[in-house]
Amino acid sequence: MVNKKNIIIDMGGTRLKIGFFDGLRLMETKIISACSQEAFVHTIHKIDAEITNFCRSFHIGTIDGIGLSIPGIVDTKTNRVISINKKYSDSVTFDLNQWSANTWNTILITENDSRAALMGEWKVGAGKGIDNLVMITLGTGIGGATLIEGKLLHGKHFQAGCLGGHFCIDFQGEQCNCGNKGCAETKGSLWALPILAKENGWPDDTIDFEQLFNAMRAGKPEAVSIVRTCIEAWSACTVNLIHAYDPERVIVGGGVMKSADVILPRMENLINRYAWTPWGKVDLKAAEFGDTAALYGMNYLLHEKIIV
Ligand SMILES: [Zn+2]
Repeated sequence: MVNKKNIIIDMGGTRLKIGFFDGLRLMETKIISACSQEAFVHTIHKIDAEITNFCRSFHIGTIDGIGLSIPGIVDTKTNRVISINKKYSDSVTFDLNQWSANTWNTILITENDSRAALMGEWKVGAGKGIDNLVMITLGTGIGGATLIEGKLLHGKHFQAGCLGGHFCIDFQGEQCNCGNKGCAETKGSLWALPILAKENGWPDDTIDFEQLFNAMRAGKPEAVSIVRTCIEAWSACTVNLIHAYDPERVIVGGGVMKSADVILPRMENLINRYAWTPWGKVDLKAAEFGDTAALYGMNYLLHEKIIV
């Protein structure tokens, strides 16, 4: 069988990653910045230019498929973007099928980026060989995805399994950006850090997770306190996910996991104490792929689609 030549695009919040796969091998990646001011059609033109470059440098005439990993809610049956963050807001009216058919004469699949990343971790990373997985991704918000009995969970409106960051951990808590109160994100996300910083007497105007964990390691009491709150929020969120989806393993990803040495043992401790799992303990593991999990995941999904 000839290896399929696929193009996979991971639309991140600040940048797009485009990968060229020969079979299951990622041959090359290219990163382009995502500009908030420009219309989605301009982003598509940039993608077209990069695909042309890949075709030229790898001497290929046709692409077998395109996979698009999207940071929003996606109808994977029709490839329609249902809801997405501000950067790509007009992608909800863009006809992706028409684009892939007319410009590249090839099939297209789409998936939510967290589900794509979980697929990658399941096939070749921290979830290999385990068919019941939950993944949470800690960063700007708290992303997530769920695999039950070897199938990605989608639900009627394509929202199932990926809204873990909006599980309520305090119904009298802070207003969340989703409309609810006291979601896990309100106590453990990049967007909530300035609020936590203010509450805890953080001395600077700016705060991000890297600064926070560096200050915690230096023993700054306000940083120790904020880190404790974040870890408690992530653990409470994970306990909810365990109760909802009954996984064998929870994979924790996101840039924050540079401090996995601090985060994982503490989360494990809290989860073991509070999760109701009479059969034993849920395994907690750091994601292995980080940056390229969604690319690998989409390529596997595309292969399943092409080779059936
Ligand atoms: Zn929320």
